Amino acid sequence: MSDIKVNEEENKKSLNFIETIVEKDLAEGKNSGRIQTRFPPEPNGYLHIGHAKAICLDFGIAQKYGGICKLRFDDTNPVKEDVEYVDSIMEDIQWLGFQWDEVVYASDYFQQLYDFAVTLIKQGKAYVDEQSAEVIAQQKGTPTQPGTESPFRNRPVEESLDLFERMNKGEFPEGSMILRAKIDMVSSNMHFRDPIMYRIITQHPHHRTGTTWKVYPMYDFAHGQSDYFEGVTHSLCTLEFEVHRPLYDYFIDLLQTKDNYRPRQIEFNRLNLTYTVMSKRKLLQLVKEGRVKGWDDPRMPTLCGYRRRGFTPQAIRNFIDKIGYTKYDGIIDVALLEYAVREDLNATAPRVSAVIDPVKLIITNYPEGEVEMMEAVNNPEDPSAGSHEIAFTRELYIERDDFMEDAPKKFFRMTPGKEVRLKSAYIVMCTGVKKNAAGEIEEIYAEYDPNTKSGMSNSDRKVKGTLHWVSVEHSLPAEVRLYDRLFGVENPSEEKEKDFLELLNPDSLTVLTNCRVEKELAKAKPYDHFQFQRIGYFNLDPDSQNGKLIFNRTVPLKDTWNKVKDK
Ligand code: ATP
Ligand code: MG
Repeated sequence: MSDIKVNEEENKKSLNFIETIVEKDLAEGKNSGRIQTRFPPEPNGYLHIGHAKAICLDFGIAQKYGGICKLRFDDTNPVKEDVEYVDSIMEDIQWLGFQWDEVVYASDYFQQLYDFAVTLIKQGKAYVDEQSAEVIAQQKGTPTQPGTESPFRNRPVEESLDLFERMNKGEFPEGSMILRAKIDMVSSNMHFRDPIMYRIITQHPHHRTGTTWKVYPMYDFAHGQSDYFEGVTHSLCTLEFEVHRPLYDYFIDLLQTKDNYRPRQIEFNRLNLTYTVMSKRKLLQLVKEGRVKGWDDPRMPTLCGYRRRGFTPQAIRNFIDKIGYTKYDGIIDVALLEYAVREDLNATAPRVSAVIDPVKLIITNYPEGEVEMMEAVNNPEDPSAGSHEIAFTRELYIERDDFMEDAPKKFFRMTPGKEVRLKSAYIVMCTGVKKNAAGEIEEIYAEYDPNTKSGMSNSDRKVKGTLHWVSVEHSLPAEVRLYDRLFGVENPSEEKEKDFLELLNPDSLTVLTNCRVEKELAKAKPYDHFQFQRIGYFNLDPDSQNGKLIFNRTVPLKDTWNKVKDK
């Protein structure tokens, strides 16, 4: 008994405020114990990490409480929407590891919404306004100043009915008329000041309904009712919709028939990340203007961008779990997301050797032509991952910055007269270098100690540094793409003076074309993850074709081997 109690308490502690509400509703027997949520993206762009936060909640709540979650496309604006976005949204949700119970569209309800609008006109609760958008905006007033009534507000019901029908037949040009709800021009809630219900769109066919409709409902006239038509019990959305809620309730009151069911809207804080923009409008602009290579550019905060970069669904879900859901907006350090990625890949990514800025190292006392297969452990965190072989030869590549000719005392990498260990191989002593006319180092020379082979009983001689390397002959050429933050400032959305494009980090992408990787990587498939030892986590980019290897740096890695030994 007491055990169960403890578990219950633990469970309570970890509930977020939305789960607490859901459990209370369940305990009170609301909606006969039914739980239904929805994830309602507008198909006008690709999903980003902010959407992942909503997805984890919408699908997560349904999963946790045995309910259902529908994927509902809010496709009320054909000007901006496209099937390309519909397809990508489905792919990204599944990639995150969620599955909807049904796909539905706001456009499924176009007829119901239209009929409801007609009913409201008949009841004197809606009218056709023929003023321009500018005039209507001016008449709206401000939160402290009342609005002004439209001269069309009290036109006869028959006139509005007739005009609305003709609007939908395409008799009037876009922008010439709108249908407005007749509510209250002096309401303290601006959303009640005769909000727009329908506008004319004749120039853009809808991706599903084609040219059937010439009038389209506004989001605010579609969203709450769609929830209601579907039987959504908990409508979870971001905080900015809190002030829209009374309007949704107003429409549902007018729609409600016998039962007193209504969706319960609960708002939570949006995800904002440092050095990132999340607005779809801005992301679209980056793509359209070629500032990035596409929606899936690895520098983008889109789910497809992160996927291409090598972030895993598990890492993203762990991150979302860590940041939680609250009622307060804020900005999360992007380093927290990168930490979650590193943590996940540390557990799963095979360790391999890659030299991204190679310089030749010649082991002068190692026999020419000899090849020794060394054992390289795949993942020290996971013994079950096993090991693979890496070829050791007389001529190797090491990182250029792992060598210093006149090194300070604390430099524990390669320098003349000092010993270092070559990972999985031997201890070597640097004996000299060869430079070109410009003074650049062309080759480094060293001698190895045959008694120090890694894993052999007499090989535990202490040296302070361990370097990674690849064999000249037994390595493959590769391109490596290093990514840095896309924006140079912490909160690009807050800089009001400058256009956000001016805040882009000019060094967000560095392409290294002369890298060398161990042969094992010939087997890599696109999106496979690796840890390039001492450098970071990488994945194989899908651009890799015909034997050409292109790697994306997912996240850098601290040089842990040498750092630890430095102390
Ligand atoms: P826009 O960038 O045009 O404002 P949006 O954020 O409204 O787009 P939608 O496609 O309407 O995009 O969003 C679908 C769902 O995802 C909504 O429920 C919305 O509240 C949620 N969502 C969008 N952005 C975030 C975010 N940054 N954090 C959490 N949830 C988000
Ligand atoms: Mg939206």
